Amino acid sequence: MKRILLIASILILCLISVQAQNLFPAERQLIAAGDTAAALPVYQITDADEYQVLRAMSEEVNPADPLLKLLARRMYLAMRDTARPGVGIAAPQVGVNRNAIWVQRFDKPGFPFEFYINPQIIFFSKMLRKGPEGCLSIPGERGDVLRSYAITLKYQDFSGEWHTEMIEDFTAVIFQHECDHLKGVLFTDRIEQQKEMVLFPLTEESGLFIGR
Ligand SMILES: [Zn+2]
Repeated sequence: MKRILLIASILILCLISVQAQNLFPAERQLIAAGDTAAALPVYQITDADEYQVLRAMSEEVNPADPLLKLLARRMYLAMRDTARPGVGIAAPQVGVNRNAIWVQRFDKPGFPFEFYINPQIIFFSKMLRKGPEGCLSIPGERGDVLRSYAITLKYQDFSGEWHTEMIEDFTAVIFQHECDHLKGVLFTDRIEQQKEMVLFPLTEESGLFIGR
């Protein structure tokens, strides 16, 4: 009997963890405080409370949540409605610790902006690419960051369907920068971590490396 109860509770726990949660009341309040024409303010590391949100781990979100489209719209405006428009943004940057990002697809015709729900990078190439990055949440800082040249991304769309895609070059860099935000990691942390890294250039002037 005890064993049956144990198996039943494990099954229930598994079901709960697979089921991505709807937005919490505080998140709903923040998102619904403005309409589809109003950008959400971009959180800055210079504000102590906002810094906490930027450093927190984000959670999965239910793609069918009725407020997710409004969050996406207001995040889009936040990303573009600045003196220095960005090429990507992650939900924690507007105060919502949920796995959702916008990325500009420089690898597609017309360079469209696309919204990704519950993105996860499931493969990072050993081949690295070095390039300058900045962040809407870190005023006045830029720096060279090493990122995988190619990644495999898994994500959901609004219908809840999962997709898997291989992405390369600068667009892959944006995905890595935004997915880092979902784990509370900033590009300045990456620069710090990479200081001692030994790099082997693939060829001279290719800008590509194998790191160790
Ligand atoms: Zn950023």
